[in-house]
Amino acid sequence: MRVDLHVHTAFSDGTLTPEQAVDTAYSLKLRAIAITDHDTVEGIKPALDRAKEYSSFEVIPGIEINAFYLNEEIHILGYYIDWENDFLRSTLKSLQEERVERIKKIVKKLNDMGIEISFEDILAKASGSSVGRPHVAAALVEKKIVSSIKEAFDLYLDKGKPAFVPREKITPHYAVDVLKKSGGIPVLAHPGKIKDQSIVKSLIDYGIQGIEVYHKDHDEEMVQHYKKIASKYGLLLTGGSDCHGKPLIMGSQPVPYEYVTQLKQIKKQLCIQ
Ligand SMILES: [Zn+2]
Ligand SMILES: [Zn+2]
Repeated sequence: MRVDLHVHTAFSDGTLTPEQAVDTAYSLKLRAIAITDHDTVEGIKPALDRAKEYSSFEVIPGIEINAFYLNEEIHILGYYIDWENDFLRSTLKSLQEERVERIKKIVKKLNDMGIEISFEDILAKASGSSVGRPHVAAALVEKKIVSSIKEAFDLYLDKGKPAFVPREKITPHYAVDVLKKSGGIPVLAHPGKIKDQSIVKSLIDYGIQGIEVYHKDHDEEMVQHYKKIASKYGLLLTGGSDCHGKPLIMGSQPVPYEYVTQLKQIKKQLCIQ
């Protein structure tokens, strides 16, 4: 019985609808998936509803909050969040508004460079609710201003390029607070991608409860390293494919159902407290 604890849908930057994600997971014989869209919980309900059509298949309500600390993008996963919680929803709403403002600033920079692109062109590429740079890149490809998504980032959108606008992101510590206040279990996503590894320790000290040991960008050495850290500090292990639809890598980092049982036990304790 295998599970995938890190799956994106079209509500953030994935290509599968939540229903398609559930259908795919079921056909791959996974026992459960966690829906972990960036800064949004919109994909959770449709996925939970779809999962009811299958026997012994579970959807874990989750999220991946994009945070920023010491010049690095840090992602915090939250499992079993109370996704209807008002505090969570209003926090996410302000994050979404900030995303929109950022994209408008990018559009202005591109327009100032003589590139004709509108905010609406970009929104049309974001079928869900979390608009971001990949949608700007897709719009630039469609308008034949660049030939690929990669070129859009290389020429305009990456840090240091002319249309780059930094996000005024929340810190990962604040993301941990938000997740805890929303009944969720905060887990550090893909720690192997963090350049300054002192951040990992800082978040452990701050109260992160788990660590994503298995991830498509982790090599065997990283897996062993984070397993050791998890056991040293008594943290949960998690893992997932970080599947965004294309390529369809769902289930490529399968972890045992036991990880879900452990998450559920912690959630139960949270509910008692
Ligand atoms: Zn991530
Ligand atoms: Zn992710």
